[in-house]
Order: sequence, then C-alpha cells, then structure tokens
Amino acid sequence: MTDSNCVFCKIIAGQIPSRKVFEDEHVFAFHDIAPWAPVHFLVVPKLHIPSMAQITAADAPWLGHLLTLLPQLAIDNGCRPYPEGGYRIATNTGKEGGQEVQHLHWHVMGGPRPWVRG
Ligand code: 5GP
Ligand code: ZN
Repeated sequence: MTDSNCVFCKIIAGQIPSRKVFEDEHVFAFHDIAPWAPVHFLVVPKLHIPSMAQITAADAPWLGHLLTLLPQLAIDNGCRPYPEGGYRIATNTGKEGGQEVQHLHWHVMGGPRPWVRG
C-alpha cells in the first residue's frame, strides 16, 4: 500500500534520496531535510497511512513496535540520556495540527538547546 504521489513513499522506495537512520519490515526512519534541532529525524510506517486520524485497533501491533523503537533510535542518533538530555516526539495531524506531509510520521528531536524551533 503506497501512494505514487507521496514524498515519503518515494523516500521509502529510494526514489527520493534521504539520509537513512533505520529500516525494518514495518518502519523506515530518515533525517529531516529541514531540522529544528541538532538531532531531528522522522520515523514512518512503510504502509501509506495519511495520519493518526486513520489509525484503528488493527494497527496496534505495528504501532506498538514503532513506538517502542523510538527511545533507542533517539539515543543511537545523538540524543542524550534522560533526564538531563531527552528528546521530543511529535506527530502532527491534519491542517490545524500543522501536518504538511500526508504520510503518518513521528518527529524525533533532541540535542543541546537552543533549537532552531520548538
Ligand atoms: P509535518 O509538518 O508534516 O509534521 O512534517 C513534515 C516534515 O517532513 C518537515 O519537518 C519537513 O522538513 C520534512 N520533509 C519534507 N519533505 C522532505 C524530504 O523530501 N526529505 C526529508 N528528509 N524530509 C522532508
Ligand atoms: Zn506515503
């Protein structure tokens, strides 16, 4: 299930270059092209799902898998340990939620402050 017009589906397929952070059967992660923080990468399901608004109980297994990966990916990619360090995990949803790319994704941001934004 991919969308040929979707920038993140193209990144997952390797049709648009990205700086890959992680990949497995369900999940792809890559550095954000316009980082807000010293560490800023995006974690996406390989399935094209537009946003959190489409999630149902049937998504719980891969969603749980993805969420449990995030703390380790954060540390492996330069976020410093809790509690002095830490990171921000955010999923924008819909227009009023500030979502620009309509393929579900988690922002993982961290590193020493100040940040560019956020
Ligand atoms: P949203 O506003 O939808 O939550 O976040 C979309 C994010 O995707 C933005 O932070 C933006 O910089 C990032 N982004 C958009 N297009 C590309 C791209 O082609 N490559 C990469 N690596 N990031 C992108
Ligand atoms: Zn997509």
